[in-house]
Amino acid sequence: MELVLQIKDLTVHYGGFTALDHINLNLEQHTTLGLVGESGSGKSTLARVIAGLIAPNEGQILLGTQELKKKRSREQHKTIQMIFQNPDASLNPKHSIRQILSEPLLFHKIVGRTDVEQRCKELLNQVHLEQKALDKFPHEFSGGQRQRIAIARALSVEPNILIADEPTSALDVSVQLSVLELFNTLKAELNLTMLFISHDLGVINAISDTVAVMRQGKLVEQSPRDQFFIRPKHEYSYELLSAVPKMPK
Ligand code: ADP
Ligand code: MG
Repeated sequence: MELVLQIKDLTVHYGGFTALDHINLNLEQHTTLGLVGESGSGKSTLARVIAGLIAPNEGQILLGTQELKKKRSREQHKTIQMIFQNPDASLNPKHSIRQILSEPLLFHKIVGRTDVEQRCKELLNQVHLEQKALDKFPHEFSGGQRQRIAIARALSVEPNILIADEPTSALDVSVQLSVLELFNTLKAELNLTMLFISHDLGVINAISDTVAVMRQGKLVEQSPRDQFFIRPKHEYSYELLSAVPKMPK
């Protein structure tokens, strides 16, 4: 298996507070790494460093053999795309869906002008939205649909790695499952390499090939999914698993 991303000794301080403490983590090509941990454990900070939104104080991020710094080339920006918990934070309310999807396609020269419309339609199709969505604006959609639009936009530039930070946590329970199913479908169809963050072990179980556990800024375990859920290596992972309510027998 090819390692697409290697995190080495990554450390982030916010003032005097250590949010990430010498994190080591590997992401294999065409797999999904589920990152779990309680609120405040540093999951989003790790996602933001990998995406180049904040600089680490120590450590390295390797994309293949290339080191990624916070300042990135256009090509490096394209290669890692992020989906946030709240799609509203990433979708400009004044832009139509056509504008939202076209802009990255043109900026990164994914397609020429004559093919933009067709590519936008394909992207909508991929996230199971109708083509007439192109002329609408974000407020005309539900939260789940807006997250689908954010997913389409992230996929538009054909990233090597998709980071999804609690992408279903802000959605109504009734639509969480359908968005999770979309991720699973896309994963298989597009052979995605994903870092999928959630505090919900049910979600992690549904999407991950490998599970990594964070606690208070430290990575305590990285294991294959089945092994993690049957026989985790770390005592803290047992605690997390035993805190999940069980179905009555
Ligand atoms: P998670 O996503 O696992 O909930 P975060 O990465 O958001 O965790 O936060 C990790 C810790 O860092 C938390 O204690 C949080 O309060 C703190 N933190 C996050 N962002 C900042 C910031 N910009 N400034 C100071 N502290 C922060
Ligand atoms: Mg978070």
